[in-house]
Amino acid sequence: MSSTLEGEEDMMFALDENREAVQARPKRRALCPACKTEVLAKCGEIMVWHWAHLKGSECFFSGVETQWHLDWKAAFHALGAAVEVRLEKGGRVKYADVVVGTGFRRTVIELQTSAISVEELRDREQFYDRMAWIFDCRDADISLRDRERYHSFRWKHARKTVGYAEKPVFLDVQYVPVWDPYTAGFRLVNSQDPEFHIRAPYQKKALLQLRKIDIEAPCGGWGLLRPRDPKFFLGWR
Ligand SMILES: [Zn+2]
Repeated sequence: MSSTLEGEEDMMFALDENREAVQARPKRRALCPACKTEVLAKCGEIMVWHWAHLKGSECFFSGVETQWHLDWKAAFHALGAAVEVRLEKGGRVKYADVVVGTGFRRTVIELQTSAISVEELRDREQFYDRMAWIFDCRDADISLRDRERYHSFRWKHARKTVGYAEKPVFLDVQYVPVWDPYTAGFRLVNSQDPEFHIRAPYQKKALLQLRKIDIEAPCGGWGLLRPRDPKFFLGWR
C-alpha cells in the first residue's frame, strides 16, 4: 500500500452507502460521519478493526484514536453500549465516545488519553451533563496504598487538568501489589517503578475512581479501586 493511503486509527464506525453506521471490514467502503470524506478500512491482526482518514486530513476525528481507545470502545460495544454517538445540543455537535443507558439514565463515557485543556474539559462536561471520564494512566507515576476500605495515592507529574473535573473520574491504572512490612499493608507499585517490571507476572489492572484529588504538588488523594471492566458502568448509578 502506498504511503499516501496510510492514515491513523480514527474510529470504529463509519457510514456506508445507506448512511448506516458500519464497522470496518476488508474492502468495505465508507464515509466519515463528520467530514463525509472516504475513510479506509484498517483490518489488521493486532488492532481492533477500524476506519482511518487519509493522511493530512484535518477532520477532528482524524488521528485521535489509539489502541487504548479502540479496545475500550470495542469492549463497550460488545456489551451493547453505543459508541461514537453523535449528540446535538444548542446547535453544536459532538461525538461521544461511549453512551450507556437510555433516556434520563443516559450516561456518556469519555475516554481521554492525550492532554486536554481545562476549557475543553469543562465544555464537554457541560455539553454531556451526565458523564464520566476514563483517563489513560497506565504509564502514569501513580503510587497507591491499600487502606483497606479505599486507596490513597501520590501522583508525580500529575495531569493537573484532571483536578478540574466535576464529573466522576476513573483513572485506568496498572500496578503490582507489594507487601510492606513496615506498615503491614500493601503498596501498589506502578509502571514507573523498576519493581513493577520485576514482578510482571503479578501485574493487575484496575480503574481508580477518584474521590478526592489535591492537584497542588505533591499531588495526591484517595479513591476506590474498581474492576477494569465496562460491565461496571452498565449498572452504574
Ligand atoms: Zn472525518
